[in-house]
Amino acid sequence: MSGAAAVRLPAALRDAMVAQARAEAPFEACGVVAGDARHEAVAYRPLPNVAGRLDWFQPDPRALLQATIEIEDGGGVLWGIYHSHPRSPARPSESDIVLAAYPDSLYLICSLERPDQPELRAWRIQDAVAREVPLTITPA
Ligand SMILES: [Zn+2]
Repeated sequence: MSGAAAVRLPAALRDAMVAQARAEAPFEACGVVAGDARHEAVAYRPLPNVAGRLDWFQPDPRALLQATIEIEDGGGVLWGIYHSHPRSPARPSESDIVLAAYPDSLYLICSLERPDQPELRAWRIQDAVAREVPLTITPA
């Protein structure tokens, strides 16, 4: 399986991420995407960002653990880790890359740099290298 293979994301999940990003700006929003056993994205769960600063995200550790347990109990996978960049591009920051702890999950970043044109991009971050993964939005 190629690391550059396109992945599919239902439009409803994309819309939920964009709405949350807008609601929580100027802070970064964050959450997780659950995948099913076939690694298709099926659900989005917003998580509280407890970083307490504008340029970073830290999902509430208990909420993240709880979400991860529930996803795995349901036979799913932690498909993606999501956060927003209210004022910067939809690319991982240096901190995002250095601190990425889920090499098997996608990192989804929504930029509100152009408020009327939110941009969602997907990345895989392994061994401190970020590679973009083409994202195909599918009808909800
Ligand atoms: Zn970031």
